[in-house]
Amino acid sequence: MGITSMLTSAARRLEGKVALITGGASGIGEATAKLFTRHGARVMIADIQDDKGRALCESLGSSAASYVHCDVTDESHVRDAVDAAVSRHGKLDIMFNNAGIIGLPCMQIRKSEKADFEKVVGINLVGSYLGTKHAARVMIPARRGSIVMTASVASVMPGLASAAYTCSKHAVVGLMRSAALELGQFGVRVNCVSPHAVATPLATTGLGVGGEEVEEFVLEHAVLKDVRLKAEDVAEAVLFLGSEEAKYVSGVNLLVDGGFTTASTSHG
Ligand code: NAD
Repeated sequence: MGITSMLTSAARRLEGKVALITGGASGIGEATAKLFTRHGARVMIADIQDDKGRALCESLGSSAASYVHCDVTDESHVRDAVDAAVSRHGKLDIMFNNAGIIGLPCMQIRKSEKADFEKVVGINLVGSYLGTKHAARVMIPARRGSIVMTASVASVMPGLASAAYTCSKHAVVGLMRSAALELGQFGVRVNCVSPHAVATPLATTGLGVGGEEVEEFVLEHAVLKDVRLKAEDVAEAVLFLGSEEAKYVSGVNLLVDGGFTTASTSHG
C-alpha cells in the first residue's frame, strides 16, 4: 500500500484528481508527487530518469502513481504523456510543468555558448510551453483544469543564475500570464510557483555546493529566519494552486522565498 492512507479522506484536498508532473522523479517534482498522492490524487510522473521515476511510483503504490518516459523538449513525448494520463485515469485536472535544468554556471552572456543557452531555454521554457499546449487540449473540453509551472526567484531577479536560466524563468512567467489570459474563458487556471534555492540535485550539482550551503545561503538572504526552505514547502504551494482552494487564482507568480525578493528591493 502507498502512503496515500496517511491522511483521512476529509483532509485530502485532491481526492479524485489526476495530475501529470514533469520532472517528477526528483526534487520539487518528487516532493509534489508524494504530497499530491497523500491528498488523494493519482499522479503520472513524466521524466527522463526512468529508474528513479519508476522506483518512486513503486513506493507510492501502483494505483496512485505511474511513470511515463518524457523528454519535455520533444512534442510527441509531451503529447503522449498527456494522452497516457487521460487514457489511464480518464481525465487531467492538474498539469505541473516543473522539469528544468540550471545549465552551466557561466553567468556572462559574452562568454556563453549558443548551444548551452538553447538547451536551458529548450527545457525550461519550451518544455513548459509544450506541457501547457497539450494540457489545454484536454482541459478545454472538460472546461476545467489547473496548470502550474515552476519558475524561480530568477523569474523576477537577474544575477542569481546564468542569463540563460534567468531568461528562461522570466519567460516562463510570460508564458504563464499569456496562458492564463487565453485559457481562463475555458475554466483553466494557470499560475507559477517561484522558489528560492532548494537543496535538490539541480542546485547542489548545478552550483557545485552541498545541501547545507544552499539552505544557509537562502536563510542568510530571506526575511524569515526560523525556517529552512525545503522541496516539501514548494510542493505545498503547488498543492494550493492545484486545488479547489485556489479556484479564483489565475495569472499569479507565487513566490516561495521567505521574503527574499521583498528584502532585496527594500531600502532598509
Ligand atoms: P531536480 O534536478 O531535482 O529535478 C529536475 C527534474 O527534471 C529531474 O528529475 C530531471 O530528470 C528532470 N528533467 C530534466 N530535463 C528534463 C527533460 N528534458 N525532460 C523531462 N524531465 C527533465 O531539480 P529541482 O530543483 O527539483 O527542479 C525542478 C524545477 O524547479 C526546475 O524547473 C527548476 O528550474 C526549478 N527551481 C529549482 C530551484 C532549486 O534551487 N532547486 C529554485 C527555483 C526553481
